[in-house]
Amino acid sequence: MKIFYSEQHRNHYPPYEVFDGGKRVPYFENPDRMDRILTALKTKEWGEFRLPQDFGLDPIRAIHDEGYLKFLASAWTEWLAMDPEIAATPERHAFLPATFALRRKTNRPTSSLHGRGGYYMMDLSACIVAGTYQSALTSAHCALSAADFTYNSKQSSFALCRPPGHHAGRDYAGGYCFINNAAVAANWLSAKAKVAILDIDYHGGNGTQDIFYERGDVLTISIHGDPDYEYPHYTGFADETGAGAGLGFHRNFPLPAGTGNEGYLAALDEALGLIRKVSPDFLVLSTGMDTFDGDPLGKFHVTREGFQEIGQRISGLRTPTVIVMEGGYANAALGENILTLLENFK
Ligand SMILES: [Zn+2]
Repeated sequence: MKIFYSEQHRNHYPPYEVFDGGKRVPYFENPDRMDRILTALKTKEWGEFRLPQDFGLDPIRAIHDEGYLKFLASAWTEWLAMDPEIAATPERHAFLPATFALRRKTNRPTSSLHGRGGYYMMDLSACIVAGTYQSALTSAHCALSAADFTYNSKQSSFALCRPPGHHAGRDYAGGYCFINNAAVAANWLSAKAKVAILDIDYHGGNGTQDIFYERGDVLTISIHGDPDYEYPHYTGFADETGAGAGLGFHRNFPLPAGTGNEGYLAALDEALGLIRKVSPDFLVLSTGMDTFDGDPLGKFHVTREGFQEIGQRISGLRTPTVIVMEGGYANAALGENILTLLENFK
């Protein structure tokens, strides 16, 4: 199996994040996650690492707002230029907004850095540091490279993306995500063939949902912790099924806290039934491992045997699949867990 990966992500490692309730904690979405996965993959002969190709900005601009991308590109240097104290000790800081634009009001500030921060960021986890923008671009290029490979070979591939992407919308960052890698890859594929996105990260894929919500050409499905108790809190409910031309082309499967293999697999079977009905040429699988029993950011109890079964059932679609890495924070188990899933697609 081809694995598209770059070391560039190491330059995105914020020194902290502001967690629920305002607690300042070490950054959960850290390079150690990738190291655990790399260690596990390197024990297997079937994994072949490839560097991503540079697809330029066009496929990313096709998904993300121009003002938002410019903000991502310049926020860090703008902040350093504004504040000599920050500029003197950049390694201790991360850019975050202190106010948020309620999207009930639509005016967009264009000059204030902090105003744009609150407009373009939905929470306090998408911390921006010096290497963030380049890392996010490279991560998207990993997903595009995997999509390109899978398109040409009709074989499944793995985009080992970091930072992840599924919480990032057209014009906002959030949930450790800046550029929506899966959405960029799926959109690129959708110009050539029929594609569906299945999101199995523990958290609702709000960014992907938003991006494709009014499109009838890409079926999007997310299975996740019910937003009534879980992040991203405001979207991912069962009654959100698309709008306009996209009505009926989005489905959420919000599941209760404590969901184990059995409950998860029942929802997965229903989701796979929907995918079979549209019979896509390609599947983009937003792959979070935070459904794992014991994940510090999750409340499900999916086990390694569960991941084996999940992988088997999804690969049973016999649809060439672009597997895009999203979340998963039980670092010690992360490598073996992703391996267990991937083995089904090799
Ligand atoms: Zn997640």
